[in-house]
Amino acid sequence: MKVSMLGLGIMGAGMAGQIVAKGFEVSVWNRNPAKSIQLGNLGARVAATPADAARGADLVFAMLADDDASRGVWLGAEGALAAMRRDSIAIESSTLTIEWVRELAAAASSRGIGFLDAPVTGSKAQAESGMLAFLVGGPAELLERARPALAAMSSSIAHLGPSGSGATMKLINNFLCGVQVASLAEAMAMAERSGLDARQAAAVLGAGSPGSPLVKIVAQRMLDRAYEPNFFVPLMAKDLAYARQAFGRAGIELKSADVAREAFLAAERAGFGEKDIASIVELLRR
Ligand code: NAP
Repeated sequence: MKVSMLGLGIMGAGMAGQIVAKGFEVSVWNRNPAKSIQLGNLGARVAATPADAARGADLVFAMLADDDASRGVWLGAEGALAAMRRDSIAIESSTLTIEWVRELAAAASSRGIGFLDAPVTGSKAQAESGMLAFLVGGPAELLERARPALAAMSSSIAHLGPSGSGATMKLINNFLCGVQVASLAEAMAMAERSGLDARQAAAVLGAGSPGSPLVKIVAQRMLDRAYEPNFFVPLMAKDLAYARQAFGRAGIELKSADVAREAFLAAERAGFGEKDIASIVELLRR
């Protein structure tokens, strides 16, 4: 099976590494070509454009920052969709708006190309070790055809329903992640300012009811001031904006997401745009 990966950021690079390691014939493309070099050394074909990467592939994955990046890579000049053959499958794994995902599904369908929205949960470590969880929307028959490649990158694959269902689930998921991290920053700052032992406070939270896997991991990074990026601050602000839009269309006003998003935007303005989401605690330490 020939597989293409468009976008080799934190997540896409790890995912491409897994499909290469598991024996698929892989082509890769990234806007900044420097990020393709390592995948080329591992055996992937490095393409000059999205169209070049997609040509001849059975499955074309994209793992890109946002709607604008996705639109350009699929439909722009040298975009992937126009180069794909009929009956191949386009798979969007980026975290995107439901509206754009549905528009892209229609654009693929009008060209006789299958489409799955298949965003992921898990972060850098899970991408690099093939332990992501895919949240899939689209026809079951397409998922079955794509399953071997998805399985190579993941430990679980949830089929959530028709096109857009994966994107919807992902925004619900990341809404809860974003508000947890924003609230955790306030909780950790309060522990520190109150004179509590911050490590002991984090251990209490982690062992108790608030101790989600995310809270435990991010609290440790806050304690260690370890901000090398697993998940960039601006991408969480983006996810919360997309979630707000989706929930709003369903008649749910997402006030908690607005407050959380402002914490990520403030961190970006303060110079933490290239840092991990855990770094938002630094604003409360100042
Ligand atoms: P990242 O490291 O910032 O990578 C972003 C990718 O998008 C890079 O390949 C970047 O290319 C590309 N890109 C950005 N703007 C572009 C444009 N205008 N045209 C073409 N390419 C463009 O981010 P990431 O962490 O891998 O995240 C990728 C996606 O997965 C996002 O939608 C994110 O929300 C989602 N996600 C992230 C995590 C996580 O923990 N990190 C977990 C689940 C889902 P360049 O290298 O040229 O800039």
